[in-house]
Amino acid sequence: MVSGGIGTLPAADEAVVLVGSFITPATRQNYTPPAPHTENELDRVAPTVRDVVAVTTPVFTTIHTLQTGETLGSIAEQYNIPLDTLVWSNPSINGEVLIRGQELRIARMAGIPYTIQAGDTLDSIAARFGVNADMIAAFKPNGISVGQPLPAGHEIFIVDGTAAIPEQLLRAYGGMAGLAATGPQHAGITRSASSLLEGPDTVYAAKAKVDGGRRVQLIGQHDGWAKISVGDTTGWLPLSALDVAGDILAQVPTTNDFPPPPPMWVWPARGAFTSGFGWRWGGFHNGIDIAARAWSPIVAARAGTVMEAGWCSGYGFCVRMSHGDGIQTLYAHMIDYPTVSVGQQVPVGSVIGYMGSSYDLAGGGYSTGVHLHFEVRVNGVNVDPLIYLP
Ligand SMILES: [Zn+2]
Repeated sequence: MVSGGIGTLPAADEAVVLVGSFITPATRQNYTPPAPHTENELDRVAPTVRDVVAVTTPVFTTIHTLQTGETLGSIAEQYNIPLDTLVWSNPSINGEVLIRGQELRIARMAGIPYTIQAGDTLDSIAARFGVNADMIAAFKPNGISVGQPLPAGHEIFIVDGTAAIPEQLLRAYGGMAGLAATGPQHAGITRSASSLLEGPDTVYAAKAKVDGGRRVQLIGQHDGWAKISVGDTTGWLPLSALDVAGDILAQVPTTNDFPPPPPMWVWPARGAFTSGFGWRWGGFHNGIDIAARAWSPIVAARAGTVMEAGWCSGYGFCVRMSHGDGIQTLYAHMIDYPTVSVGQQVPVGSVIGYMGSSYDLAGGGYSTGVHLHFEVRVNGVNVDPLIYLP
């Protein structure tokens, strides 16, 4: 039998047997109700009878707002609950940085909250948390009626239950000791989904995406950019992409710890330089040709925006990009549709399509074999790409 603060209940099947055998049809036939008491008699012999009102106190009665200087350990101690109760009560303790102002649910006793899954039974839940099944049902805030199916998706609280902290959290916070010592750090919240860049400028390539509303740790800052880490990833975001308190930002050190900016221009393909810019065969060649095997990658020669991507008159499958300063580049004779689309921002050196020999005869184009025809235009006028390529 269970001992402890909750008390004991008969098992569910016992209760059913009691009710079922207490009033049999035979007893009912022989049963004569006693004569009703008069009101005066009732007043004399019986105390005032009240309806039983179910009074339950919710498990989570307190929201604690995380302050600078506090740790998870100090908060658990303050409310006299185990650290695992605090951690399991708060899915926002998820391996990411903690932030000042973060709200934590405080349970009024030791235990583990648990959301009932389809197929769970009281016994399976009890076994999982090392407690007695009757206790789970007896704890009124759980709202469980014995004999009724458990409501999947409903959160209950396993009083005195224990559950190991997930490995992933222990790794993120440095074991149980690290977890206890973890408190709010210099951190901000992303305003919307953003790209993490390799360095503090839009010329750097993106290395990862971060969702909006994520807590990110501020490692350093440089010229209106923040070096942040989220999970295992580190990168740069403009400060405008972050919600961060001014006094916190003031404490984040300035850093020059980022790679040199990428080259502004790269060659758009590897291969043999088969034709230069200028007059040839009685005609003017308004770009350069680079030949290699079919499906050799073609990359953006400079970071920019895709203006045209697909079948281009004269050029076959092609991409045209704009790079600001009146400069455009064009990549022709691709083997198939480009891998980028109109409006896309493309970093320098990233693949935009593959080498082929498509051309549009009707549009005045021609190609004698697999190669890239590459043009650079300045304010609409074709210029020798070798002026720009490194
Ligand atoms: Zn050409």
